[in-house]
Amino acid sequence: MEVNYKNIKVIGFDADDTLWVNETYFREAEKEFAKLLSKYETPNKIDQELFKKEIDNLPLYGYGVKAFVLSMVESALELSNNNISSQTINAILNIGKEMLNKPVELLDGVENVLKTLSKKYRLILATKGDLLDQERKLEKSGLTDYFHHIEVLSDKQETNYSKLLNHLDIKSDEFLMIGNSLKSDVLPLVNIGANAIHVPFHTTWAHEEVSEKDTNGKAYKTINSLNEILNLLS
Ligand SMILES: [Mg+2]
Repeated sequence: MEVNYKNIKVIGFDADDTLWVNETYFREAEKEFAKLLSKYETPNKIDQELFKKEIDNLPLYGYGVKAFVLSMVESALELSNNNISSQTINAILNIGKEMLNKPVELLDGVENVLKTLSKKYRLILATKGDLLDQERKLEKSGLTDYFHHIEVLSDKQETNYSKLLNHLDIKSDEFLMIGNSLKSDVLPLVNIGANAIHVPFHTTWAHEEVSEKDTNGKAYKTINSLNEILNLLS
């Protein structure tokens, strides 16, 4: 689909799995968690229960590692019928701490793309998750200076983005969002008349998956690597 980017003034970048690796660490943590609880249930069942718990808890805890840890603890209590040992609770907390302490691994081409685009556009980081964790990752990434500011949204739905555009004092066609999630970084933008580019990551959290029906006829571009942005925008 032909999309033109001539009105763009501000570009929003998603962070997790767009600029740096994230989802991979959640998959690893889920495996660890399933190992810890292996005497109570099969890995598959543990995975399902944890996912269900995360979704149930989303309105209360929001996104991010800390919410994930609380959901693991709750799932452990339920799956073990409240028989989980304090050692296992400790091991679960340590999974979370390890996630929070991971080094930031930038995806291919990120720094060059930001450096080039920051000369012509105002760049912002638009992420959901935990404020402290996202600030820490941005700091570790060494990318802070390319961004005008960091916007941590409690969710990435149309209303959240409309508020953001109001706050930025720009029209919807002057905004371009770039991210790995169709559900969070692409479709809500297209639906409010803004622009979006999808850069898929190899792993997607089940909660972020959308059906073909949702994407049919929607005007956005998909690229394979962030590097391709420079061909579209410069
Ligand atoms: Mg993402």
